[in-house]
Amino acid sequence: MKILSVIVPCFNEEQALPFFYEEIKKISVKMKDVSFEYLFIDDGSNDNTLSLIKKYSEMDERIKYISFSRNFGKEAAIYAGLKRCKGDFVVIMDADLQDPPSLLPEMYEAIVHEGYDSVATRRVNRKGEPLIRSFFAKLFYKIMNHISDSKIVDGARDYRMMTRQMVDAILSMCEYNRFSKGVFGWIGFRTKWIAYENVERVAGNTKWSFWELFKYSIEGMTAFSVKPLQIASIFGVLFSLIALLMIIVIVVRTLIFGDPTSGWPSLVCIIMLIGGIQLLCIGILGQYLSKTYLETKKRPIYIERESNVK
Ligand code: UDP
Ligand code: MG
Repeated sequence: MKILSVIVPCFNEEQALPFFYEEIKKISVKMKDVSFEYLFIDDGSNDNTLSLIKKYSEMDERIKYISFSRNFGKEAAIYAGLKRCKGDFVVIMDADLQDPPSLLPEMYEAIVHEGYDSVATRRVNRKGEPLIRSFFAKLFYKIMNHISDSKIVDGARDYRMMTRQMVDAILSMCEYNRFSKGVFGWIGFRTKWIAYENVERVAGNTKWSFWELFKYSIEGMTAFSVKPLQIASIFGVLFSLIALLMIIVIVVRTLIFGDPTSGWPSLVCIIMLIGGIQLLCIGILGQYLSKTYLETKKRPIYIERESNVK
């Protein structure tokens, strides 16, 4: 029988996990033609998440876990899961039931019978999410799709079922700065999209602050586009042209009207503007440099503290 691995990144999910486990168990009973393997990744939780997972794994031998030495982030947890799972098919799911397990049979069907390599999900709305967060999320997808080669669907979740072939392709990308949504798009393969209404988390709180999401979006942009690096060149050309025009205007004006010494405020404004843009460009350069710096160190993406995966 084929194996379906369910990868669940967990960071302080002691409140949501019991609900999740109940739900997924119900679905696994319904899906009779595939056997389940659960792989819980404890991403350095500081509540009872790990002991809860261990308790489950004693009751149910299909349950495997990996516990990190500290919090490495959801991307690292996903990578660890993909690397250590054994399934012929693999699905990544959040622990908070925001990725409805009821979609699993439909996803499995699409891969096995309709010949897709992966089935991805997207939310059609962002009901229950702060407005400002939705606004910036939309803005991010707009900019990202404009500047990057790998297209990202607005509202795309990490909830996705894949074939082993696709998982191996993802694992072959061993970069340190991981941005899964970009990776999925970049590797290609045939993907079916399923849309669903946003579901609010069953229990516990979101782990993403606004600042963290902001950092994550910068990560995504630098990881999958080098367009920002061209900004400096564009501004350079633009300002040179403007300067050229201004020189001509001033020379002609001086020849005709003489030279009244004024224009101090405008000079200051121009210096400030150009100075600001120069700093912005250096900042962008710095972003890419820092990413390159971390990549060259070749640090491990995560460190395991304990696990029952053989
Ligand atoms: N998560 C994780 N490590 C982190 C942050 C989150 O493994 O550093 C997990 C978390 O336990 C959950 C999933 O990633 O299963 C999604 O997190 P969350 O629900 O907080 O994000 P949101 O759904 O609000 O985007
Ligand atoms: Mg969530």
